[in-house]
Amino acid sequence: NEAASQTVEEKKNEFLGGLLAAGFDEGSCLSRYQSVLFRKESKHKPSSYLISRLRGYEALHKRCGPHSESYKRTLEMLKSGHPLGTSDCNYVVWISFSGLGNRILTLASAFLYALLTNRVLLVDPGVDMTDLFCEPFPEVSWFLPSDFPLKDQFNGLNQNSPHCYGKMLTSNSLSKLETPSFTYLHLVHDYNDHDKLFFCNEDQSFLQSIPWLIMRTDNYFVPSLFLIPSFEQELDNLFPERENVFHFLGQYLFHPTNSVWGLIRRYYQAYLAKADERIGIQIRVFDTGVGPFQHVLDQILACTVRENLLPRTIKEGSPEVSSLNRKSKAVLVTSLSPGYFERIRDIYWHYPTTTGEAVSIVQPSHEEYQQTEKGMHNRKAWAEMYLLSLTDVLITSSWSTFGYVAQGLGGLKPWILYKPENRTAPDPPCRRAMSMEPCFHAPPFYDCKARRGVDTGDLVPHVRHCEDMSWGLKLV
Ligand code: GDP
Repeated sequence: NEAASQTVEEKKNEFLGGLLAAGFDEGSCLSRYQSVLFRKESKHKPSSYLISRLRGYEALHKRCGPHSESYKRTLEMLKSGHPLGTSDCNYVVWISFSGLGNRILTLASAFLYALLTNRVLLVDPGVDMTDLFCEPFPEVSWFLPSDFPLKDQFNGLNQNSPHCYGKMLTSNSLSKLETPSFTYLHLVHDYNDHDKLFFCNEDQSFLQSIPWLIMRTDNYFVPSLFLIPSFEQELDNLFPERENVFHFLGQYLFHPTNSVWGLIRRYYQAYLAKADERIGIQIRVFDTGVGPFQHVLDQILACTVRENLLPRTIKEGSPEVSSLNRKSKAVLVTSLSPGYFERIRDIYWHYPTTTGEAVSIVQPSHEEYQQTEKGMHNRKAWAEMYLLSLTDVLITSSWSTFGYVAQGLGGLKPWILYKPENRTAPDPPCRRAMSMEPCFHAPPFYDCKARRGVDTGDLVPHVRHCEDMSWGLKLV
């Protein structure tokens, strides 16, 4: 027993192959230490370059983070309106915006951007970020101090604000002689062609001179960073296997707080730990109207049977297969509605399986509708994304960032349920994802050099159109 507990300690101390820094207080964020005990060992290993850049970032964050001397000095520039000489610390401020899945993806994107541009990432805590996530960097907080001068203006920042980068480009208010001390980057799905110039090399070199970038986005924009020439080499060194960008950045950044970790751990131990195999089914229906919909249920069952993810059931009266010594499967369903879970559970209760396997179906919550900015609602959502990431086999819904977070954290290539059209189950019902990366739903289609439109999904082999959204981009 002592030997066993020692390996647990050893496992905890490996810090995900060096991805995580040592030196945190274990009690203040248990998930940081205990998650390895719940997750299967990842096939993927972070590059040593990524690890060294993360340690470098942590040092930068400590030097420039909230309340440091450099932070105060750079704040002075913000107040005066223009950089007074060059600053030794530059920042990207992430505004809390959109659903929780979206926020997790955009925060990872903003962090990678900070890493590539040697900026410090500061996180607007919004109403619930501090309840959901532990501090990821040692010693110095990633949260934007509450007295940050522009904080009251965040809500009003939009495409038409005079400080919006795209707007500044159209109104010619940008001059290389008088660099502004801050600019607002509007990278929300409704952004216009000027805002999209963010993804051009030339614009990136100009943005370098601005100490404060304030960013609002609801998209995983990482795939388009891979198309910016000045970032190419660095990204290649950081992520030699491109499909694990979010897998590593997500595992590095997002540690559930103790209260969320309690939801995860208790649920996992009670309902999932003992099964021989865990299957996650993430159901997100974007149709209007009250579900459950028969076509969605038909699609899920068609996918699980066709891809051999769940056993078929036998009709009443047919001879049964002995269920002695058969494997058990636990299915974790997540959905806003309870209807799908109830129907699937009843099928596996009412009828025997052809294989004799016992199939249990569970669903932690059914919140009925999306409720933004509500504490327990978002804690449950985060816990469920995380629980899905602990499964062995994952089935996700098209277009959903909730599912992307689960697949990425878990290092899983999911089966994606195609988006139903006209309330009919698509045929085929699902397909295996090409990679575990999230999809960028609103990428630019612009060739910055040639100054004309281009299919950005057709430029390099590792940036492709997504399985679930034909115009989206993903890393493969
Ligand atoms: P997306 O809209 O699917 O891309 O995912 P988001 O997470 O950005 O926004 C959807 C929000 O709806 C979530 O953050 C939750 O608040 C809620 N939601 C959607 N599906 C579920 C679910 O299966 N379980 C829970 N608890 N909440 C959900």
